[in-house]
Amino acid sequence: MKSKKLTLNFNEKNKEPSLEELKAEASRCLNCPKPNCKANCPISNEIPSFIAAFKNEDYEKAYSILMENTCFPDICSIVCPHEKQCMGHCVRGIKGEPINIPAIERKIAELHKDSLEKVASSTHKFAAVGSGPASLAFALKLASKGHKVVIYEKENYIGGVLKWGIPSFRLPKEKLDKYVSKLNKLGVEFVLNHKIDDKHPLDELIKEYEGVFVGVGAPNSNKMKVPGEDLKGVYHTNSFLSKVNLQDGENRELDECGSSVLVVGGGNAAMDAARVAVRLPQVEKVTVVYRRSENEMPACKAELEEAKAEGVEFKTLTNPVAFLGKDKVEKVECAQMELGEPDDSGRRRPVESNKAYVFIDATTVVLALGFSNDFELNNSIFKLETDKWGVIQVNEENETSIKNVFAGGDATRGASTVVNAMKDGINAAKAVLKRLGE
Ligand code: SF4
Repeated sequence: MKSKKLTLNFNEKNKEPSLEELKAEASRCLNCPKPNCKANCPISNEIPSFIAAFKNEDYEKAYSILMENTCFPDICSIVCPHEKQCMGHCVRGIKGEPINIPAIERKIAELHKDSLEKVASSTHKFAAVGSGPASLAFALKLASKGHKVVIYEKENYIGGVLKWGIPSFRLPKEKLDKYVSKLNKLGVEFVLNHKIDDKHPLDELIKEYEGVFVGVGAPNSNKMKVPGEDLKGVYHTNSFLSKVNLQDGENRELDECGSSVLVVGGGNAAMDAARVAVRLPQVEKVTVVYRRSENEMPACKAELEEAKAEGVEFKTLTNPVAFLGKDKVEKVECAQMELGEPDDSGRRRPVESNKAYVFIDATTVVLALGFSNDFELNNSIFKLETDKWGVIQVNEENETSIKNVFAGGDATRGASTVVNAMKDGINAAKAVLKRLGE
């Protein structure tokens, strides 16, 4: 792994196709009358139309078509699971390569020069709780119409998962900074280190503002519930990723990490954790263990392949049953698994195989087992109607059980995607604008 590591850092950039290459790519689009790409885009982007405008070198038209349904095209073009959405359903992919839709989208966003027109300022005031993609989209839509928006964030940074969760070698820092700067120019105010709780209840915001948007995500990491999970050196994804992702620069440190990192899980967060670990200077070995086979892994194939290329090892059909160590984790006991009958998700259920166990040395373990909602926060503190898992219940306008209180993103969906969070923020903002007669 060492020689590959030498070329890896936290700010390296993927090589982007040139404008000429992308125009050639756009020429391959068949402009399908019933486009599968659009049908499988969560925000129904007019993909064939923006590709056609791009091909005709009408870049501003391409941009305005794109912006009909999105707020953050260059972010979504990086973090969306395209192989499961637009690109994965492009008819060109049936017999060859699908159209590289995200690269075209990214280029259109890059070519657009944002001339921030002065917007008339209104007297309407709105608040958002949390500063992840759902709240940022809500704020951007309303602030673009001249309305005042104040975002309350419990952390000392802006962006939620875009900041702590997605490593900078995937989502360069400038992409988020660009939107934060735009929001600032539009007059959006950020109040950091401000937690909405019993001391600062949601009621205060409800009284002060005409509408409130709750975008607090699904902040609780799922637990394994096996012995040793509380040992030092056993992290959940959010604590591990935020310790590294909130640092700046192309080289980052996590001294306590030691030399061998074991990541548990098969989703994109597991791939992010493994790819972050591989870049840490003292780490010599990174292993991902996953209880099913590679075929069932929920991670995007591209992320999986990147992780492999960077030297991450994979042990599938392997599931931890105990974390062992004196003061700190030293070893992980794993059961060998096999696949049984399909479960509710349609994937074959992993079952322990003949009580066969292996021991893997690890100085750090990262549990990437997904996220859940905070029932106490959403239900008892915010006093919003939730289901039994704490998922906030909303109607088709993203309005909660309290009038003029909206919510979206993972707070209303359980763990989901950035594009869905953005979609909810836009949807709630549209409902607000409709009520204002705009
Ligand atoms: Fe173009 Fe593919 Fe969409 Fe058809 S499915 S319009 S070929 S991008």
